[in-house]
Amino acid sequence: MKIERFPRYPLTFGPTHIHPLNRLSAHLGGKVKLYAKREDCNSGLAFGGNKTRKLEYLIPDVLEQGADTLVSIGGIQSNQTRQVAAVAAHLGLRCVLVQENWVNYADAVYDRVGNIQMSRIMGADVRLVCDGFDIGIRKSWKEAMESVLNDGGKPYPIPAGCSEHPLGGLGFVRFAEEVREQEVELGFRFDYIVVCSVTGSTQAGMAVGFAAEKRANRVIGIDASARPEHTREQILRIARHTAQLVDLGREITDTEIVLDTRYGGPEYGLPSEGTLEAIRLCGRFEGVMTDPVYEGKSMHALIDMVRGGEFPGGSRVLYVHLGGAPALSAYSFLFRDG
Ligand SMILES: *Cc1c(COP(=O)(O)O)cnc(C)c1O
Repeated sequence: MKIERFPRYPLTFGPTHIHPLNRLSAHLGGKVKLYAKREDCNSGLAFGGNKTRKLEYLIPDVLEQGADTLVSIGGIQSNQTRQVAAVAAHLGLRCVLVQENWVNYADAVYDRVGNIQMSRIMGADVRLVCDGFDIGIRKSWKEAMESVLNDGGKPYPIPAGCSEHPLGGLGFVRFAEEVREQEVELGFRFDYIVVCSVTGSTQAGMAVGFAAEKRANRVIGIDASARPEHTREQILRIARHTAQLVDLGREITDTEIVLDTRYGGPEYGLPSEGTLEAIRLCGRFEGVMTDPVYEGKSMHALIDMVRGGEFPGGSRVLYVHLGGAPALSAYSFLFRDG
């Protein structure tokens, strides 16, 4: 496999920290050992997150093409767009963000606080539009591209979650290699890796990276899109494309993409009771913050699967924390009593 031949522009602090979740593991019976790998604090650029790791492989292409404006898209509380705004500010590029109404939720200041607030502070041109949730390529986004061209700029399109970008899977291929190096230092291998999935390139990249050791199926994707067929299809497609790109030497098979569909509901961006309980439990036992859109759902899955005895006793499970806590303030009403 050849990840080294792709140029990478460093935007992160380096390999992300792995640490045990001792109190949460003990609270859940102590038979399964839980660990976290902290993509949520991987960078000093506006708190970072999984998109910052992906962007390390897109930025060399941006610079080579001589683009001057990054154009991206997401929901109103998109973590992706906040991370693109931060990288644009860091590199001295302009940034246009299309923020769509992906979530049926209306906290009083939903479009003022958290991610969107930070994007505005960092100087991004934030454009709110009314379209609903879709992880594919959008009309409003094409219009934003055209508007940059009309103003004499050179736009560079970065699709939702970086996922439909041809290089979008590379960051998490490298993540898998990083885990393998950390496992050597730790002296053990993780039996399962739990990760949240929506636009797909995080899990796709990991699947390709771990497929080299035939353990892609130990990556348990937790759907948070509440449209798991679309997400699954997208993970598999991106994984296949990425496998070719890095010369994996074979095709990723259907069974190598594991997507658990039990925890994504009731809708994209809306937490279930289980999501909220998981956010509180993880906060109270570990001091680790998760959010109602993504990581609270994968944390719910982790907790529920341990409680249900779905991991064999003695398993070591790595929870990959992808970020997202900046959205918490947009859900203030849900946590008004803690
Ligand atoms: C984008 C995002 C995800 C989902 O990652 P995909 O690559 O889109 O599947 C999960 N958690 C957080 C915090 C995110 O920002």
